[in-house]
Amino acid sequence: MQTNFSLAQLADPAMASSEKILRACVHCGFCTATCPTYLLLGDELDSPRGRIYLMKEMLESGTPARVEVVKHIDRCLSCLSCMTTCPSGVNYMHLVDHGRAYIEETYQRPFVDRLFRNTLAAILPYPNRFRFALLGAWLAKPFAPLMRALPVIGQRLGAMLALAPSRLPSRSGYEGPQTFAAQGPRKGRVALLSGCAQSVLAPNINEATIRLLNRMGVEVVLPQNESCCGALVHHMGKEHESHATAKQLIDAWLVEHQRDPLDAIVITASGCGTTIKDYGFMFREDNAYADKAAIVSSLAKDITEVLARFGLPETAFKHDAPLAYHSACSMQHGQQVRDEPKKLLTQAGFKVRDVPEGHICCGSAGTYNLLQPELSGRLRDRKVGNIAKTKAALVATGNIGCMTQLAKGFADHEQDVAVVHTVELLDWATGGPKPEALHG
Ligand code: SF4
Ligand code: SF4
Repeated sequence: MQTNFSLAQLADPAMASSEKILRACVHCGFCTATCPTYLLLGDELDSPRGRIYLMKEMLESGTPARVEVVKHIDRCLSCLSCMTTCPSGVNYMHLVDHGRAYIEETYQRPFVDRLFRNTLAAILPYPNRFRFALLGAWLAKPFAPLMRALPVIGQRLGAMLALAPSRLPSRSGYEGPQTFAAQGPRKGRVALLSGCAQSVLAPNINEATIRLLNRMGVEVVLPQNESCCGALVHHMGKEHESHATAKQLIDAWLVEHQRDPLDAIVITASGCGTTIKDYGFMFREDNAYADKAAIVSSLAKDITEVLARFGLPETAFKHDAPLAYHSACSMQHGQQVRDEPKKLLTQAGFKVRDVPEGHICCGSAGTYNLLQPELSGRLRDRKVGNIAKTKAALVATGNIGCMTQLAKGFADHEQDVAVVHTVELLDWATGGPKPEALHG
């Protein structure tokens, strides 16, 4: 694609990077076939190619983002299905990240939209605030129908209350900072990302991870001064906030790495994994953090990559009923981790089935299900329908956002299907407790 940036514009490294990405696009349109929003809406401007044109025009113009452009960029899930499909290697992720940051900088959103986004950004990355907010949401649940009727914000508030769990798990004894020793001779040492929303909604995921890794002879450390990885606010274009929290996390991990080298930084939420693996790019122009961020990105691994590397313990476990594996977009498109989870589950004794249309997003996508509840709901229903075709009553996935989204979908469709994190199933199959979601 031809571009028309001025030399002055290209002096900005972010603009220079986006220009390179834009030039790689040959407008072939292959990406449109696998884009969930194009599939739903059939509008070229809600396809990757259409959004690429919009961003090119926006960035070249140097003027504040137009409302029409914001509408179509906001509708993008950042699912990155288009990146998997693109034959020309267009890095849509870096382009849309830049586009979102540009919008955040130049566009004044309507007051209510701004307030809603700022509230999410002020709560979700902080476990204590999030826990408190969930308590509020639980109390407000009975008023959900009234709230839905509110103009402008009603749909979003309704979606937020609907997604809030009816019961909050109690605090876990596996919270940091602390170190969990390997059982037997130490074969490795890793840091585990505690996570923000996940640590509140499903602490059992980190518990299963630590138990399993320890049994495999791997020491697990939860470092001091951990923070959110910044992914949630990063996808909202809030670059300043996401970089600040990412730097804190980088520092926390490097202190541990310098004390006693880490073999990996383990991530159990693939949405976070995609962002952390990209820290090297995010901080490439930051003299103080470029090298540190590159080290962290090179150590960052999804839990299934680490389990495959150290080797799952032998087991005679068998689970005869079919299990549907839902690959989160951030897992399959963001990190290109495709086979490991399924291979590990099969090795552990599960009968794994692929979900038809498995490359299409379930509509969770970070805060997307709160910000775009209508489109998100349609994608969720489509995914639930596709999972039903596998005849499985158990779904494994590696991302807390997908777990929450799918559980809500099955509940709405009155389907008795359990959604469990892959690592909880692997822990169970190799000597750990049965996942809570499978009790009763
Ligand atoms: S598939 Fe790639 S090159 Fe083709 S239009 Fe989409 S982004 Fe551009
Ligand atoms: S990231 Fe997903 S929703 Fe956005 S343009 Fe690409 S395929 Fe479409």
